[in-house]
Amino acid sequence: WLRLPNRWNIPVEICAGPDVPLEPAAVDEVLAVLETADTLQRLAEATPGYDGAEPRITRVALTPDFHKGAGIPIGTVVETRHALLPQAVGNDINCGMRLEVTSLDVDAVRPHLDALERRLRHLFFEGGRAIALTPVQREALLRDGLPGLLLAGGPARWAGLEPDDADDAVDRVHASGFPAGTAEAFADWIGSAGAASGEASNDGIIGGIGGGNHFVELQYVARVHDAAAAHAWGLAPGRVVTMAHSGSLSLGHQANGTALERLRAGWPAGLPRPRNGIMPFLPDGRPEAGAARRRYLDAFANAANFALGNRFFLSLTMRAGLAAECGGASARLLYDAPHNLFWQDGLFGPDGGDGSGRVVHRKGATPAGGHADTEGGPFAMWGEPVIVPGSMGAASFVLRGQGSGRTLGSACHGAGRRVPRGASARADDAELEAFLREFRVVTPLDHRDPVVARRADVLAAWRRDLKQEAPWAYKDIGPVVSALAGGGVAAPVAELRPLLTVKG
Ligand code: 5GP
Ligand code: MN
Ligand code: MN
Repeated sequence: WLRLPNRWNIPVEICAGPDVPLEPAAVDEVLAVLETADTLQRLAEATPGYDGAEPRITRVALTPDFHKGAGIPIGTVVETRHALLPQAVGNDINCGMRLEVTSLDVDAVRPHLDALERRLRHLFFEGGRAIALTPVQREALLRDGLPGLLLAGGPARWAGLEPDDADDAVDRVHASGFPAGTAEAFADWIGSAGAASGEASNDGIIGGIGGGNHFVELQYVARVHDAAAAHAWGLAPGRVVTMAHSGSLSLGHQANGTALERLRAGWPAGLPRPRNGIMPFLPDGRPEAGAARRRYLDAFANAANFALGNRFFLSLTMRAGLAAECGGASARLLYDAPHNLFWQDGLFGPDGGDGSGRVVHRKGATPAGGHADTEGGPFAMWGEPVIVPGSMGAASFVLRGQGSGRTLGSACHGAGRRVPRGASARADDAELEAFLREFRVVTPLDHRDPVVARRADVLAAWRRDLKQEAPWAYKDIGPVVSALAGGGVAAPVAELRPLLTVKG
């Protein structure tokens, strides 16, 4: 553990390990984020009528993979009172990881990998499975979340749907639904921007992977670290699992982008602009602030609900591929965990809130609750499943959360980038070839297709993109997981190895 001293006296705890490099630029960024305390104080002074509900930052925690982001590092948890910071969530609202346990063992899948690769390329990238939601379904998803959709949609509508899916969408998802006034809030909020982009929000198509760091991966349990928990969670050695990583595609970016634009445009005259560029939503003291915030929350909820649904349909597509190629297969959700989200007591909380005005923002950090946090649910015994992917050429981990107060109940959501996006393209092509011989990666482009092979320019661009996502672009997962275990944040349950990665 490290503490970062600062002139605001805000507790900043870093879960660190001896072999996890601390990026100085990310530390500087944390100190810059803390200047938001000044912004909030000025806002409070300029806006009377808070009755003691002053907006402030109360605590910051950093996970072992923390690294420089745009303004706020990835791997940052910020706790505030009476203040909402869209930038502390990250633009890909409700980006997250979904882990499903299949009925298959690795030996039953290996012989089918060539055929599976072809089928998955077809399903994911060649229009083999375009899942269109009806307007009613889309409304149900955006307004009430995946549980709303599965209730409205009725069973057996999509191939691969299992009887447990509707219940699991409530019990095995960290934040299962975000009530929004209406799905039209989104259209209202973003205006014509959404229509122009022709994105999933408008034509009802769902189940796209998104950009390069998102993936759907077939993995198997290579090692068990906690036999009892692994047994309870169905993670027997050799068991095949699927991991889906995706967010809200363009919806989150549009919701947060619009929020930022409006916050900048509506900044109170006479107040200095925040030096760090981080724009808070004004707290309740001003009526116009309340209205703007509510509209943002509606759009935020729409994006968050879409992201959860998208991960569900990505997993269904993987289920369909497995069932077709491996002689029948089923899969069940272990857990779906968001890593770009905020939790506001009394707004999204089940009990109407405690009036504390507490908001926990996580940007690139995943919840890691302990027994107490999971009471009454299927994870009360072991704690919350924590999904920590490594890279498409390295191990990933499932851990169990220990509800550490020092990280505000959060763990890292991956190994984290070793080098900034862009810089990892420097590896030579031979390294990439060696990687591709060892690991199976399914991308929209089939580099072995003779037609593609004649296009040197297309292949060069494809190689450049892939190198950004290759194992050498990410930190070693081992020390990152050790830091979580050593810090009492989360305990390893099982280690997973990749069989095949579908990359957007
Ligand atoms: P994000 O992009 O949400 O910040 O981070 C996702 C995390 O997923 C990264 O920190 C990295 O460790 C991990 N990751 C990225 N690409 C892959 C992949 O293709 N497969 C696996 N298993 N992990 C990945
Ligand atoms: Mn994302
Ligand atoms: Mn993500």
